[in-house]
Amino acid sequence: MNLEEMSKHFIHVYNRNIIFTKGEDVYLYDKNGEKYLDMGAGIAVSALGYSNEKYKQGLKDQIDKLIHTSNLYFNEPSIKAAEYITKASGLDKVFFTNSGTEAIEGAIKLARKYAYLKNKQSKGEIIAMNHSFHGRSMGALSVTGTKHYREPFEPLIGGVSFAEYNNIESVKSLITDDTCAIILETLQGEGGIYPASEEFITGIRKLCDDNDILMILDEIQCGMGRTGKMFTYQYYNIMPDILTTAKALGCGVPVGAFIAKTDIAKAMCPGDHGTTYGGNPLATAAVCKVFEIFKEEHILECVNKTSPYLVEKLNSLKDRYGSIVKDVRGMGLMQGMELNIKAADVVAKALERHLILISAGSNIIRFVPPLIIKKEHIDTMYSILDDILQDVQKYA
Ligand SMILES: *Cc1c(COP(=O)(O)O)cnc(C)c1O
Repeated sequence: MNLEEMSKHFIHVYNRNIIFTKGEDVYLYDKNGEKYLDMGAGIAVSALGYSNEKYKQGLKDQIDKLIHTSNLYFNEPSIKAAEYITKASGLDKVFFTNSGTEAIEGAIKLARKYAYLKNKQSKGEIIAMNHSFHGRSMGALSVTGTKHYREPFEPLIGGVSFAEYNNIESVKSLITDDTCAIILETLQGEGGIYPASEEFITGIRKLCDDNDILMILDEIQCGMGRTGKMFTYQYYNIMPDILTTAKALGCGVPVGAFIAKTDIAKAMCPGDHGTTYGGNPLATAAVCKVFEIFKEEHILECVNKTSPYLVEKLNSLKDRYGSIVKDVRGMGLMQGMELNIKAADVVAKALERHLILISAGSNIIRFVPPLIIKKEHIDTMYSILDDILQDVQKYA
């Protein structure tokens, strides 16, 4: 099948040219059986790689029992999944969604409802960050800090203003009596892998406490162990009021969640929110398996053991190719390499060499491999990237 045939029946919003048909360990295989090392994990989703038998068996067992009932009834896997996720986050109440963007929608609605109950005249203003990414639905897009994503779809939801990430004064200057929430990624992903400073995160927490504003942390990408703790905010000794998660939460089965403290969650009452599929038995069976496997197979320890090696190798590329590599930054197994050239060119060259990389923004390579990645895989990646950057430098 050629590109034209593959693309024929799709709305063209992705530029792609390859079909993967099989996954194994940390590798994907194309239709011809060619093997590719995966440093993208389906955009930070497939944390357990592609061959976890406990995970797969858990899903198969659940398919045989029950796939869907709707939220008109309880189901067993969701009860267990809710317990796991509240324990892991330290928050109290969860709502399961089908995606990250829906988790953001829910978080925004909860913040608005909370503000409305305090003051029916509240304008429900929200402060979001430049370079942020929170999803593609109208609500999530409204708090996404990249203008070219937003502009063609305006008018979006009102009352959103944008502050500079890692600049607490810029956040402070946007606060009004009507501010109900501040939303941010604990570590910015799509926008270019920008970690937050401790000062910034704790500063936001204090601003929220002082002004009775809710702190919404989006850990859809940086959560679920990716940075070496279950959630990245756990590095900062603070708690968000509302947390969103998705991507690796189901390790490939579409599921997300927003989670809140009891006092805030109780602003929502029957009728306020809902979903047909969200938290269905199949999706939450996946969530349960993910939490169980994380514990049994010491996934956080894997991240903490391997990530310093990844950082070391990326920094060594930066030292070797200082004219191309501007910066290396990130936390754990969520790293970015900022280039002086287009990231898409390097991504394409890597794919030719059977290395799957993804970009973030136009000039940043994003490294978000399966969390079970080993040093030998990083070595393979390093030598391919080394070749590519050497070529680029030669012909620059
Ligand atoms: C991917 C992502 C989203 C959107 O999640 P979808 O599942 O694609 O809807 C939201 N926030 C962050 C930080 C993300 O990385």
